[in-house]
Amino acid sequence: MTRPKTRNLAGLHRQRNREIARIPGWVDVIRGSLVRYLLTCGKTGCRCHRDPRLRHGPYWYITVSYEGGKQMRYLLAAGEVADVRKGISAYRKLWRALCRISELNIAILKAGRGGEAKGHGRRP
Ligand SMILES: [Zn+2]
Repeated sequence: MTRPKTRNLAGLHRQRNREIARIPGWVDVIRGSLVRYLLTCGKTGCRCHRDPRLRHGPYWYITVSYEGGKQMRYLLAAGEVADVRKGISAYRKLWRALCRISELNIAILKAGRGGEAKGHGRRP
């Protein structure tokens, strides 16, 4: 995360407004990771046992981590993969935008105080 370069209050406000205007829609956001896997089946004579490249699939699922280290996985239908990929991408964009807006808000806070950002010697 890069910190805002300007200390100009009006410039920071403009930057923040631009950032807010660019926030992607969050209707479809998905927090998780998309995982692709290939399967070796139960039939011992099957081609998938001869060569790992001939395994069945690909199949897809998303994994989602929760507090306490718990992780859930959800199997996906082939037709759902593209939407899940978009949702994960939207989540990342949204998260990065929130981080940038937060940095701008801190810079705005500091610029509004006359820019005492160094933290040494001066009191608010
Ligand atoms: Zn097989």
